[in-house]
Amino acid sequence: MVEIGTPFTPRGRKALLLGSGELGKEVAIELQRYGIEVVALDKYPNAPAMHVANRSIVVSMLDGEALRKIVEEERPDYIIPEIEAIATKTLIELEKEGWNVVPTARATFITMNRREIRNLAAVELGVPTSPFEFADTEEEYLEAVKQIGIPCVVKPVMSSSGHGQSLVREQSQVADAWREAQEGGRAGGGAVIVEGFVDFDYEITLLTVRHAGGTSFCEPIGHYQKNGDYQRSWQPQPMSAKALEKAREIAAKVTGALGGYGIFGVEFFIKGDDVIFSELSPRPHDTGMVTLISQHLSEFSLHVRALLGLPIPEIKFYGPSASRALLAEGNSSDIVFSGMEEALSIPGTDMRIFGKPEVKGHRRMGVMLATGSDVQDACEKVEKAAAIINIDVK
Ligand code: AMP
Repeated sequence: MVEIGTPFTPRGRKALLLGSGELGKEVAIELQRYGIEVVALDKYPNAPAMHVANRSIVVSMLDGEALRKIVEEERPDYIIPEIEAIATKTLIELEKEGWNVVPTARATFITMNRREIRNLAAVELGVPTSPFEFADTEEEYLEAVKQIGIPCVVKPVMSSSGHGQSLVREQSQVADAWREAQEGGRAGGGAVIVEGFVDFDYEITLLTVRHAGGTSFCEPIGHYQKNGDYQRSWQPQPMSAKALEKAREIAAKVTGALGGYGIFGVEFFIKGDDVIFSELSPRPHDTGMVTLISQHLSEFSLHVRALLGLPIPEIKFYGPSASRALLAEGNSSDIVFSGMEEALSIPGTDMRIFGKPEVKGHRRMGVMLATGSDVQDACEKVEKAAAIINIDVK
């Protein structure tokens, strides 16, 4: 039996959110809807989820000792990672001591490291992936490129959102790709993965939720990436019944091996009826922001329902929808949005402004959402509405 007490009383429930970005903000809102106290962590003040949390703490979540101290002081019922860059070894220890990590500490550890997730998916579970080799030194890297062949994709073993990633199309780019990976990796250089380039027809995120009643899937989400970062997503991505069935089978297998309750963003490349597993996040996925308009339970409410042990008997899909990242460029903390009156006058549109406190270079500051008569209509509408929004970075 799930029991939720009154917040701030001994039987009240508390969640510790590790990462307070735009995805964490929506998770915090969903937790609040169930009367769960939220303590939001991030390395900088006024991060989006902190705006809607009960309290916030500024800390580096890569600092295992600091993280442990906060857990022991706060005594949360749920520890919810929102980002990859966390001291996952500390999470594993904390879980062993009885703390509840969503979905599991092992899932957060395995998915933050490309070596671990490839070993699980491709080697242990035999799931189809791009051909790959790992390299710890430049010498091993050159050998790996020879083995895989050109074109290939080079990525730091630990990185996300395209950081340090390059596509090598010809021999002359091999040395630069190594340098790029050394500079862009989270741990400040080191090991890389060399992947065979997959000439896919399209790529999808299959949101997969593991909950008390089993495993459920959202409609597949198509997306367009630039420099490894998501620009636009749409749902449903049209695909053959055969490919969808394969993707669901693989997603169930990999998430089943990771275990726990929560939502997973499982990424695939699709070519014809071939389905190639790429990677996954054991948490809401940025391309899944489209579910803020397309489903009666968004990926955030599904995550919270699942982690609370509550049922998910159905995921009602409202129809073709799209999302568009609203990006800003510049260097300032004086950021002003305008154009909302005109953009939101387009029927079937909605938006979120994340409230990030500053821009340094290039940053995702909001998202435009739209429904349409079909996927193309939803995509055109979302682009049109997004183009009207002006983000003034003083
Ligand atoms: P990742 O950070 O691994 O999700 O990669 C970001 C994006 O780069 C993907 O969504 C793809 O668009 C592209 N990409 C990554 N790996 C490959 C690959 N092996 N072949 C082709 N495109 C890739």
